[in-house]
Amino acid sequence: MRKRTLNHIRGCLAGGAVGDALGAPVEFMSLKEIRDQFGPDGISEYAPAYGRKGAITDDTQMTLFTAEGLILSRVRADKKISTSLVEFVYQAYLRWLSTQEQTEKDHMIQQYGVCTMVDGILITRPELFSIRAPGNSCLSALKSGHMGTVETPANSSKGCGGVMRIAPVGYFLPPDQVFDAACAIAAITHGHPTGYLTAGCLAQIISGVSHGATLPEAIRYAVQMLKTKSGHEETLAAIQAALRALKTAPVSPETVETLGAGWIAEEALAIGLYSALASGGDFGKGLRLAVNHSGDSDSTGAITGNLLGAVLGLEAIPEKYLTGLELLDTIEELAEDLFNRMADGGKQPGAEQ
Ligand SMILES: [Mg+2]
Repeated sequence: MRKRTLNHIRGCLAGGAVGDALGAPVEFMSLKEIRDQFGPDGISEYAPAYGRKGAITDDTQMTLFTAEGLILSRVRADKKISTSLVEFVYQAYLRWLSTQEQTEKDHMIQQYGVCTMVDGILITRPELFSIRAPGNSCLSALKSGHMGTVETPANSSKGCGGVMRIAPVGYFLPPDQVFDAACAIAAITHGHPTGYLTAGCLAQIISGVSHGATLPEAIRYAVQMLKTKSGHEETLAAIQAALRALKTAPVSPETVETLGAGWIAEEALAIGLYSALASGGDFGKGLRLAVNHSGDSDSTGAITGNLLGAVLGLEAIPEKYLTGLELLDTIEELAEDLFNRMADGGKQPGAEQ
C-alpha cells in the first residue's frame, strides 16, 4: 500500500518532532543518570527542556527548513527560475542560521514585521528564534559563506546533523533522485562521506516506505544504493550492526548502546533503524528505545520518529505526545505544503486517505 498520503507525511514530520522532544531532556545524560531520574524504564513522558515540556530542538528546526527549501524550489521552478533545489535548501538553512543569531531576531521580525523580503514562512515565526543545542558543523559550515558539496566538502564532519534533518527529501522527489539529492543537501554542512551517505540512506528508506515497501524491504533497497557509492563502508557496517543486533540480542537499552551513542551519523542511523524495527509497530515503544541511552537522544529519537511516522501514519502517535508538542501547527502546515508539492502530485485522485 502506498503511503504517500498527507496522513503519513504528517506522521513522519510530527513523529520526528515527538522523538526530538522526548529525547531533548536526556540528550546529555548517561543511561544510568536517565534511570536514576526517571525510573528503571527510563523517560517515556515529556519532561522540561529549554523551559517547557514538549520542546523541539535543532533537529526539528532544521527538518522544517529542509522542507521549506524543497517547497520553495518548486514554487520558483513553476516560474522557471533556474536555481537548483540544493541551493534553495541552502538558502533555507541560512535563514535557520539567522534564527540562531539573537541579533537577527530584531532585524528580521521587528524591522520587517510579517516578512515579505525573505523567502518562506518559518523566518516569521518567533518561536523558531531559539537556540536548542545546534551542531557546530552546521553552524560553522553555514557561517563560512560557502555552500558545501560532495565534490568540495565544507569540512570532514560526520556528525549526525546531516541525517537528522533529511526526512522530507524522501517524499519530495521521485525514488531515483532521492539518494543523491539527500546526500547533496547533507553535504551542505557535512563533508565526510558518512555524514552525507547516511542521509541518502534515510531519505531513500522513507521514499521506499512511502511507495509501499515494508521497512525491511526499504532498508534492503537503500543498502543496494549505498553500496554503489564511494566511501560507503562505515555506513554499511553500522546498518548491518543494527540488523544483526535485532537477530542476536534481546530488545533492550543495553543492546541499543552496543550500536554507539548517535553523536556521529552512522551510529544515529543505526540506532534509528534498530529502534524502528524493534518497535513491532508500536510508536511509543520505538521511541522509548530510541531515546533511553547514553547518547544523542533527541537526534536518534527524531530519526526513529520520522521512520515510524512514515510507516504508521499520524494516528499511530499517542495523543499524549501530540498534545503539548511545540510548533505542531507549523509542522502540520509544512507537511501539507510538502504534500501539495510532491513530485508525483500529492493532489492526484486517490493519493489522500
Ligand atoms: Mg538536537
